[in-house]
Amino acid sequence: MNDRGQLLAIAGPSGIGKTTICHQLLDSDDRYIFSVSCTTRTRRPNEADGVDYHFITREEFQQFIHDGKLAEWQDVFGNFYGTLKSAVQEALDHGKILLLDIEVKGTLNIKAMYPEDTITVFLLPPSDAELKRRLESRGTECEKSLKIRSARVEEELALGKKFDYQVTNDDLVETVSTIRKIVNGEKNI
Ligand code: ADP
Ligand code: 5GP
Repeated sequence: MNDRGQLLAIAGPSGIGKTTICHQLLDSDDRYIFSVSCTTRTRRPNEADGVDYHFITREEFQQFIHDGKLAEWQDVFGNFYGTLKSAVQEALDHGKILLLDIEVKGTLNIKAMYPEDTITVFLLPPSDAELKRRLESRGTECEKSLKIRSARVEEELALGKKFDYQVTNDDLVETVSTIRKIVNGEKNI
């Protein structure tokens, strides 16, 4: 029989490096699987349905809420995003480490719902200027979206203090190594 799995939620301001870090963890160890969230936002050209997100309509999302299918959900930048309970349960049952790339409030809700199974990691930027540089360099956001995302940073940093761990994502290799140590129990809360 498999050991019980774990939930690893990695949050932090937009552009901090969550996606990059999740990919590195996923590529290096097959215990890690990605929690594919549901969203009502429009698919970006580089994204695939069922891989990056389940892209669904607002009506479908409302139905999922009504049917109790979501472990948590939030309205982010005017779109709905939510974590499927089925993804959480499957990972826990099969000894997997479910990577959740979700925003801070959703992460804290997951921790409250699955306290024994969840590790929360908040990523901090080395500096405000570097965070801005990374978000702009990704080239996915228009001017308006950049402003909205920047405005959220202060609130996110405040809520980040409630996380189990805070890790500054300066050197990428070091950050990934630190997160692996946290998961393997080599670093304590
Ligand atoms: P998020 O998913 O948190 O919004 P991304 O993973 O898309 O952020 O990263 C934003 C940009 O920052 C990408 O261009 C990525 O390559 C870069 N990046 C991520 N981590 C680092 C790091 N430690 N040092 C330098 N650049 C980084
Ligand atoms: P993006 O549109 O850039 O993919 O994501 C916008 C924000 O929504 C990010 O902060 C991302 O982490 C968050 N997000 C993605 N999926 C979920 C989810 O299932 N639940 C919550 N609460 N936030 C999510």
